[in-house]
Amino acid sequence: MNRESILLGLIGEDISLSRTPAMHEAEGLAHGAATVYRRLDTRTERLREKTLAELLEAARATGYNGLNITHPYKQTVLPLLDHVSEQAAQLGSVNTVVISAEGRTTGYNTDVTGFARGLEEGLADATMTEVVQVGAGGVGNAVAYSLVTHGVERLYVADLDPGRAHSLAEEINAAVGREAVRGVDAVGIEEIISRADGVVNATPMGMPAHPGTAFDTSCLMPRHWVGDVVYMPLETRLLAEARAVGCRTLDGTGMAIHQAVDAFRLFTGLEPDAERMRTTFLSLS
Ligand code: NAD
Repeated sequence: MNRESILLGLIGEDISLSRTPAMHEAEGLAHGAATVYRRLDTRTERLREKTLAELLEAARATGYNGLNITHPYKQTVLPLLDHVSEQAAQLGSVNTVVISAEGRTTGYNTDVTGFARGLEEGLADATMTEVVQVGAGGVGNAVAYSLVTHGVERLYVADLDPGRAHSLAEEINAAVGREAVRGVDAVGIEEIISRADGVVNATPMGMPAHPGTAFDTSCLMPRHWVGDVVYMPLETRLLAEARAVGCRTLDGTGMAIHQAVDAFRLFTGLEPDAERMRTTFLSLS
């Protein structure tokens, strides 16, 4: 590709607060490439009538080097692509599309690799035999796949909507070919957490619009590790309470930064500087 310039975009709904464009633009610039990363928000007047297929085709025809894909298109984009990585195909979810100079599209999932990298950085050598995940939405899907493909033997998933927890378990078990995930009731989840090694919050709980925690943190003991996907704010009530107990914790920045780091590498073939991308990310707080 022409590394004097890089053209990227994000397709999704309500993406005005995404920090991903700034991370890519700053990183591309640091590599000496004029970099433009556009938000293609299908809730806006300009794009409301466009289909995902039309947007993909327009990006291909206008020479985009790649696209990030977010809610609600991570699943529906798969059949529109020329090729999908084995991991993304197994999960049935794509958040990164690389467009070659010839216009061929290849889908990847860097939410999965990004969460795993954050886990390696923040919780290296933590025991991961039994883990509880609360939240089985879009992010929960990638987090669960990441956990069971990176050492977790048994993952219990709970959601306010029990149907979501059960279908996520079915999907991930089918993807990894073993009974690694079990959907369980959100009510009484504290009892399972008290026996587990760690717990991950994959719900919006902890954000200003969703104050509080998704479970009663009095079940936490110092031996637990606690992860949160929420990064606005960085220190959620869950993480503050877990730290007060003496738990090791992992905030949502690792996943948010490393999904972009991994995507930048795929888009450009250049080696991103993860610390520099972290600095850009944190400068937007
Ligand atoms: P989503 O709406 O698709 O899924 C959230 C799920 O949590 C839903 O299934 C909901 O039923 C469940 N839930 C909500 N409150 C609950 C509770 N108290 N107990 C049990 N289940 C509960 O949302 P999503 O796209 O998965 O995003 C979840 C959060 O992840 C976002 O709010 C955002 O803060 C964060 N996020 C982080 C990153 C990152 O890179 N770190 C990226 C995107 C989003």
